[in-house]
Amino acid sequence: MLDLHVHLLGHLERTGSQENIRGFLDKAVEAGLSEIGFTDHDDYFDHLDFGLIREVAAEYPHLRVKVGLEADYREGEEGRIKSLLSRFDFDYVIGSVHEIRGWLFDMPQEEQAHYIKEPDRMYKDYFRLLEKAARSGLFQIIGHLDLIKIFGVRPKTDVRELAAGVLDAVQESGLAVEINTNGRYKPVGEWYPEQKLIEEVIRRNIPLALGSDAHVPENVGRDIQEVAALLRKMGVGQIVSFDREKKILINL
Ligand SMILES: [Zn+2]
Ligand SMILES: [Zn+2]
Repeated sequence: MLDLHVHLLGHLERTGSQENIRGFLDKAVEAGLSEIGFTDHDDYFDHLDFGLIREVAAEYPHLRVKVGLEADYREGEEGRIKSLLSRFDFDYVIGSVHEIRGWLFDMPQEEQAHYIKEPDRMYKDYFRLLEKAARSGLFQIIGHLDLIKIFGVRPKTDVRELAAGVLDAVQESGLAVEINTNGRYKPVGEWYPEQKLIEEVIRRNIPLALGSDAHVPENVGRDIQEVAALLRKMGVGQIVSFDREKKILINL
């Protein structure tokens, strides 16, 4: 099983030392994973020695270790992101939207702001940015597709309709969508994306990637077996990973 979304540095509570890398890799082995991918936030780029991850990985011959990044998509910053990504030979980059015109909407202190906004407007603003992220050519995976639901606010319009533009862009750009299990541990209490959207992604034959979004070693691989079981039940036979940006299909 694979966990392609893991934060070695958390939110800078840790360094990217050998010991800390080993802490995550030991946990991956313990959780029965065959592959783990590190995807720290691009803001912490200069705190990381990406080459060191590949060095330490050599101590774990039975574990595939990928080096990626979770890059924040912000409108107008495509050039900055592109030059950042050119500085290392990443296996893949997860493109995520955590911010709508300067509003860091997934921070706990922003919960109240979600309740006073018009839900459809909020979802449309979010998905419009995510669609631009998907069309930017910068990423291989779209992260936590419906993160905007984090505090449990639902749109009036069917979410599949609101997400259609993003999913068209994902399909046309050949990207993968992740199932991110971290949402279950947020106020909304369910994975990203929700079941209806997972079904829609599968219906469109969009490849799926799996990630826990672990910010501490203890959470590596959390719920991943459960997602795999659900996908098998839904008739999905393969998930994806990436090797220096090349898509790899892995049997479930
Ligand atoms: Zn994220
Ligand atoms: Zn993340």
